[in-house]
Amino acid sequence: MQIFDVAIIGGGPAGSSCAAFCALAGLRALVLEREKFPREKVCGDCLNPSCWSVLERFGVSQQVRNLPHSRLDSVGFIAIDGNEVVVDLPIGDDCEFSLKRSLFDDLLLKRARDLGAHVREGTTVTALANSGNWKIETAGGESFSARTLVGADGRNSTVARLRNLLPRPTRERVALQAHIPLPRNFGRRVVLQFLQEGYSGQAPVNESELNLCLVGAPPTISKLRKWAERHFEITPDQPWRTITPLTRSPVPCAHENDHDDRSGQRSTISFARIHLGLCPNVSRKTVDQPAGARRGIVATCRIVICACRSNSTSHFASVHTKNRFGPQ
Ligand SMILES: Cc1cc2nc3c(=O)[nH]c(=O)nc-3n(C[C@H](O)[C@H](O)[C@H](O)COP(=O)(O)OP(=O)(O)OC[C@H]3O[C@@H](n4cnc5c(N)ncnc54)[C@H](O)[C@@H]3O)c2cc1C
Repeated sequence: MQIFDVAIIGGGPAGSSCAAFCALAGLRALVLEREKFPREKVCGDCLNPSCWSVLERFGVSQQVRNLPHSRLDSVGFIAIDGNEVVVDLPIGDDCEFSLKRSLFDDLLLKRARDLGAHVREGTTVTALANSGNWKIETAGGESFSARTLVGADGRNSTVARLRNLLPRPTRERVALQAHIPLPRNFGRRVVLQFLQEGYSGQAPVNESELNLCLVGAPPTISKLRKWAERHFEITPDQPWRTITPLTRSPVPCAHENDHDDRSGQRSTISFARIHLGLCPNVSRKTVDQPAGARRGIVATCRIVICACRSNSTSHFASVHTKNRFGPQ
């Protein structure tokens, strides 16, 4: 069986950018993705300006700009009583962008494939074993082998769950998301609207569609949906995407799970905690240099969890793995 240098579980922005940078570093990278792309993802669809430099390194910033999108020039915060505070956003090339995740994620995954990553869509990881290398099993009965495992499988990460690393949900929340017709005169703004039962995020994603998110507690989410139906004149049969549980404590940050199995081999489990999940700093050094080579120990297997911390719309390119994953 072929042994990959890196197996990346999940082909969202974290997984595909990680795969691309691994491929650029000459590593044999495998991406296992449950869905077939293009697919939508529950998200506000807003791309924070701090992403542009990563997309540049990734070689796709112009292609992202060429996708149907909206440039956002302000953010409006609407209080429960209807009062609104408007804050200007940066303008120019590196402005805040919004675009559908189906387009963005598909482009990134294709880029990873073009750069040489081996990408398998429609492949759900169901089991992991670690005996020197990682053995990864899928729902379809296939198995793969890799020296390093990257868990980039999102908020309710299977990788983290299978390794008993997934924190319990803290406060139960549910999110609904839909693309609906863009209301006339909505403008080029992103709106965060606070409501009695939760909150709503709204942003145009192109000339004709609005991304509408609703976040609330399970017992009150239907009230939020009714509010949206009235407010945006949408019908009760509007299809919504959903994600639950929504709120978890973050997976702990890097280097907290090193353990020595006393056989002279050391398993290193590291965590990259990132926001929207661009994962720019996993490099050849991460994988090729035996973990702890500088420390006089030998690592046989590693795991990196690219677990998003919150549904923050900011800083999604920041990776907190300074020591081990610094840029080359
Ligand atoms: C309501 C809401 C609004 C948000 N709005 C914004 C926003 O406007 N801007 C922003 O920057 N962020 C926003 N976020 C956060 C953003 O969506 C996430 O940070 C981002 O999707 C994380 O990317 P990722 O690649 O880590 O994971 P994901 O995008 O979740 O990708 C994980 C991938 O792993 C795959 N996968 C899962 N399990 C398996 C498995 N067992 N085997 C194989 N594949 C698997 C999934 O199919 C998926 O494609 C929002 C989140 C929510 C919930």
